[in-house]
Amino acid sequence: MNTMVVIDQMTVEQLKAYCRSTLPEEACGALEGFVRDEEVYISGFIPVTNRSFHPSVSFTFDAEEWVELVLKREHSLIGTFHSHPAASAYPSQADLLSAWSYFPVHLILSMKTEEIFAYNQTKNHSSAKQRDGEWFNGLNIRISPRA
Ligand SMILES: [Zn+2]
Repeated sequence: MNTMVVIDQMTVEQLKAYCRSTLPEEACGALEGFVRDEEVYISGFIPVTNRSFHPSVSFTFDAEEWVELVLKREHSLIGTFHSHPAASAYPSQADLLSAWSYFPVHLILSMKTEEIFAYNQTKNHSSAKQRDGEWFNGLNIRISPRA
């Protein structure tokens, strides 16, 4: 089955603007939303400071900000996002090895090509793509005109 990711145009524009604002470094953060039927609805995003030692090519969530987000439970977290300042939106091996694999959706925004790639990780190898031994599903994205 093919999961559809639904996100409204305004959120997409705000997310792109945020990712542009952190250039030349990668932007990163959490996605809020909910899952209904086979659709993942993204209703907003929460930036998290990138603490990577090489922030132009990788991201590491600020641990305190992340723990606070998770523990406060004010947001219904459904995924993560990050940007690729100078690469395509395809997930890197490091992306696929990150610790957040249980979330229903991950978004990568390419600042180079303007593409957005949505994926989730899976143990079901029948429908998945593989990169360097890590499996993931590319997800279709539908951008809705309004929230
Ligand atoms: Zn990445």
